[in-house]
Amino acid sequence: MQYQSTRDSSVSVSAAQAISQGISKDKGLFVPKSIPDISAELDALCKLDYIGRAKKVLGHFLTDFTEEELSACVEGAYLGKFDEDEVAPLSKVGEDAYLLELWHGPTCAFKDVALQLLPYLLTTSAKKVVDGKKIVILVATSGDTGKAALEGFKDVENTSILVFYPEDGVSPMQKLQMTTQEGGNVSVCAIEGNFDDAQNGVKSIFTDPALAKKLSENGMMFSSANSINWGRLVPQIVYYVSAYCDLVADGEIKAGEKINVVVPTGNFGNILAAYYAREMGVPIARLICASNQNNVLTDFIRTGTYDRNRDFHTSISPSMDILISSNLERLLYHLCDNDDKVLSQWMTSLTEQGRYTVDEKVKERLQSVFWGGYCDDAATKETIWEVFAKYSYLCDTHTAVAVNVYGQYVAKTGDHTKTVIASTASPFKFSGSVLDAIDPKAVDADDFVTAGRLSEISGCPIPRALRELKEKQPRFAGRCTRDTMEQVVLGMLGM
Ligand SMILES: *Cc1c(COP(=O)(O)O)cnc(C)c1O
Repeated sequence: MQYQSTRDSSVSVSAAQAISQGISKDKGLFVPKSIPDISAELDALCKLDYIGRAKKVLGHFLTDFTEEELSACVEGAYLGKFDEDEVAPLSKVGEDAYLLELWHGPTCAFKDVALQLLPYLLTTSAKKVVDGKKIVILVATSGDTGKAALEGFKDVENTSILVFYPEDGVSPMQKLQMTTQEGGNVSVCAIEGNFDDAQNGVKSIFTDPALAKKLSENGMMFSSANSINWGRLVPQIVYYVSAYCDLVADGEIKAGEKINVVVPTGNFGNILAAYYAREMGVPIARLICASNQNNVLTDFIRTGTYDRNRDFHTSISPSMDILISSNLERLLYHLCDNDDKVLSQWMTSLTEQGRYTVDEKVKERLQSVFWGGYCDDAATKETIWEVFAKYSYLCDTHTAVAVNVYGQYVAKTGDHTKTVIASTASPFKFSGSVLDAIDPKAVDADDFVTAGRLSEISGCPIPRALRELKEKQPRFAGRCTRDTMEQVVLGMLGM
């Protein structure tokens, strides 16, 4: 399996090269040249556990990894790291819907599923293509990626990691999770600005040839733990395949029966993984893209025009406060039949004018698979309350956006196809907003007191990783601006 760049189809690299490098030199993203078809294997996959399914699915994409290497990666990532070794369990809510709980890992958000595996994929890849070089991971985070990446890469030999987070764009629990991070190879820095500023800054550091040369002379190279890295996306395909298999194995659906999938979306990585699962032959009918009031994707899916020229809103679902969804570039590349010229024009227009409009063919293809919807903070809270009142189920703010948009979809279309809704974080990561939705008077200024009350009301335990934060001291207090990010990077590397 070879990988192309979305901005230059003539680029052709192995999976190991794509994963080590993170992003193509032309600023394009790596995509598989063809998408493997697993429809004939689904019956067999249904009989395996999560780890077995992961090995099979990854094997189709990482053809330059040996079977032993893949096994070591997958087992290292998932054995003993998730609550009761359940990486992606389903919870039924109502007649037709299932929440796919992706937050049972060490940092309580779905990012763990990919970021527990990525360090293994990356170090195995680096051995193949750039042996001996130290990998420097730069991360821009809207809150959850940062912590999950720090936890995945801490003390991994021959790597160091630096995370930038928007100063006022993360929850108190998320901030504390990052600033108290342990490990000898980790750094964390706040940036004045929002996630898009952090992500743009990191992207331009990555693709600066002078910096790359400087690093290379010092025996280092940059890579990315953001979902622009193929190694971040490919582990996420597995849980959609696995969810389908679980529904069949549990008798909830018949083999071959179609399902819909709803994903609370920010950078478009998670829903793109569901798209790949669909293209691989998993019987998925519709992909429902749920946004908060930063509804640039809703408008795009409905009109074919992507326009980031709008106010940026800070919401109670901060991991979705994004106006430039990087991974949309991969989807559009596939939808325009790998036309790197057209795609590059749209992306240039996005950089220069902040907008682009796709052609009719691409818009039709987009709308034949995707449905977009959004809701604001008030509706998100109402949904948290409703789900709790109806099903005694506590969902976080991001998951609630997805549940709300799913409700809108059913009301609009009358489509009662069985549906998997991605549940992306533990409610205790956003205790203040979640408790505010259920019993506003109980919210305390101290997030730990609030979490304790939420636990009492719901009967759900606070995850240990969050409980233990209370005892930890912050280690990182650094701040920078978009213009001084590069200095921070060089400073960390002692250059
Ligand atoms: C990152 C994140 C999202 C958005 O996922 P994308 O892959 O960026 O679309 C949604 N919910 C939570 C809790 C997240 O951490």
